[in-house]
Amino acid sequence: MKTFNLHAKLKLLKMTMQKISIGLLLFLLFILKAEGQTKGLMNTTESPFSLMQSTDLEATRFTGGFWKERFDVCQHTMVPFMWDIFNDAERSHSFRNFEIAAGLYEGEHDGPPFHDGDFYKWLEGAISVYAINKDPELNQLIDQVISVMQRAQREDGYIHTPVNIAERNRPEEAVAFAERLDFETYNLGHLMTAACLHHRVTGKETLLNMAIKAADFLLHFYETASADLARNAICPSHYMGVTEIYRTTRDPRYLELAKNLIDIRGLVTNGRDHNQDRIPFRQQTTAMGHAVRANYLYAGVADVALETGDSTLLKPLDLIWKDLVQSKVYITGGCGALYDGVSPDGTTYDQPSIQLIHQSYGRPYQLPNLTAHNESCANIGKLLWNWRMLQLTADTKYAHWLEQTLYNSILSAVSLDGKRYFYTNPLAVNNDLPYELRWSKDREEYISHCNCCPPNVVRTVAQVNNYIYSLSENTLWCHLFSDSQLKTELPEGGRIELRQKTDYPWDGKVVFEIADAPASNYSIKLRIPDWADDASISINNKGTKPVQAGSYATLTRKWKKGDLVTLEMPMKTRLIQAHHLVEETRNQVAVQRGPLVYCLESPDMPEGQRIFDFALSARSTFTPVPMQMEGSKIMALEVDALLINTEEENALYRELKSPGDWPKQKIRLIPYYAWNNRGPSEMSIWIPLR
Ligand SMILES: [Zn+2]
Repeated sequence: MKTFNLHAKLKLLKMTMQKISIGLLLFLLFILKAEGQTKGLMNTTESPFSLMQSTDLEATRFTGGFWKERFDVCQHTMVPFMWDIFNDAERSHSFRNFEIAAGLYEGEHDGPPFHDGDFYKWLEGAISVYAINKDPELNQLIDQVISVMQRAQREDGYIHTPVNIAERNRPEEAVAFAERLDFETYNLGHLMTAACLHHRVTGKETLLNMAIKAADFLLHFYETASADLARNAICPSHYMGVTEIYRTTRDPRYLELAKNLIDIRGLVTNGRDHNQDRIPFRQQTTAMGHAVRANYLYAGVADVALETGDSTLLKPLDLIWKDLVQSKVYITGGCGALYDGVSPDGTTYDQPSIQLIHQSYGRPYQLPNLTAHNESCANIGKLLWNWRMLQLTADTKYAHWLEQTLYNSILSAVSLDGKRYFYTNPLAVNNDLPYELRWSKDREEYISHCNCCPPNVVRTVAQVNNYIYSLSENTLWCHLFSDSQLKTELPEGGRIELRQKTDYPWDGKVVFEIADAPASNYSIKLRIPDWADDASISINNKGTKPVQAGSYATLTRKWKKGDLVTLEMPMKTRLIQAHHLVEETRNQVAVQRGPLVYCLESPDMPEGQRIFDFALSARSTFTPVPMQMEGSKIMALEVDALLINTEEENALYRELKSPGDWPKQKIRLIPYYAWNNRGPSEMSIWIPLR
């Protein structure tokens, strides 16, 4: 027995030493990685299947123009104004829930179960702003917030304030993971994403340690949970979060966790198309169900694919993406057309198997305008997904939809003053609609029923600078245009610094001025947008050459300080028509100039006339007219439109009176993102064609 005990002890000691050395090794690796790690939104430096990597969060700074203005509104209004709301327990329990869970206040949880996630998204926005402005007061606020959250977290890493508060007040009722719709993993995912950025920006480990503890809790949870509980994944932001924790720590257990999370979805026995789990992900071919849940799932799967290259994940991602852009996305990039509907996606078409869905993708070409749901979070999820697909493929089609979505269905979600937000992003508003839609027609400061979108918009606007450039070996990729300055170390050593001078999106001329570049041959890849026919590039104002729309133009040479690259993209105003199966837009056109989709809005209509009274001719010519709105520069478009409908009749059907010559009248269109900034209004993107 003694011998056995000694052997057992020696074995135990050996195993312990092995564990310690593995732990020590991982820790040392973590320190080493942390020092050299790219500090962008994603750290794909070591991701074997990523064709590019992010620049540091602070590498690109806006120096003027469109995005400087939006970022300034974000740092001076969006972040502090939302903090004031989140920190005012009379209006929102978003932060008070953490304070109660931390034992600083007595009270009960208030707000939806995903309220913690709302707060983490705001925190991520604040961290992203701090990356640029290094405001010590903001840093202090972030530290204070984290110290409260640390006190709210359980020793085992679990943090979910509805349960943490119940544990204080009524321990017998406190049950973790009691309901699929408790959104615990969704909240934890946002914590992990925010924590990785906080570590990259500040070097601190306070929030990261919280997130690692939470990830360890999930590891343990999935090892021990019942099958039903383990398969719970509503709105899986944690696929992105856990993968980013892996990228930050390089601890392979987290990548295994992320992979397993996708695999166990396929084991759900009573799944729903609404939650994309009626059939295993690997068998899916179409965008289905709740659009936020769907897009977060697709983005998370793409994250895992960046690490594993798993073709059984890439194939459905490709098919679903094609289904989306070929039949289910709005011209604005918005997606998730339906307030409510049904889905037979995961079955044969037998009646009893048809399931209810809401805030959801519809059937192909089912794209209503007045009742378009297009939740701001779904549009942001689509941006996150496209960004990851771009890393996987370097295909400009993903950058195209990233830009289209950013300008036309994410910016639309926030007012120009940065204080009010949309939950839904319809393509038309008509005050005659004889029923109320579930969500407000006007932006609101705080969407009391469900405030998930506003902080999601805050973090996205705060992070636009990180979507402009990527790096790969000997190559700088430029995806978006903005008046800005880039200063970055290169993965292969050396640096590049350049200024981008432009009045984009109002003007299509972009000048890149090189300030510093490697001594050897180096490539700059400029994205030529899909709409930019007749674009051209010259270097040092010589040898203008045409470049292909919908591609990356590659410029390779030994760059020297002062070199100029001039990209000219003619900003034509274009009329866009939809596929003939989109019933709601038959015989109508939308107006797009550069990346911006335009709309008619009632404040611009002549006295006594409504936006629905006008049509455009296919030969319409548009004149760009600068205007100011809320102190913001906007390029409106003026056009001679046809006055087609001044009758007041309210019949469902009526005879078309002889058209005669429709009189012409000059009217104005504004960029869609800027609508609803002049009080309640009617609006339409699609305009009849005569
Ligand atoms: Zn939302």
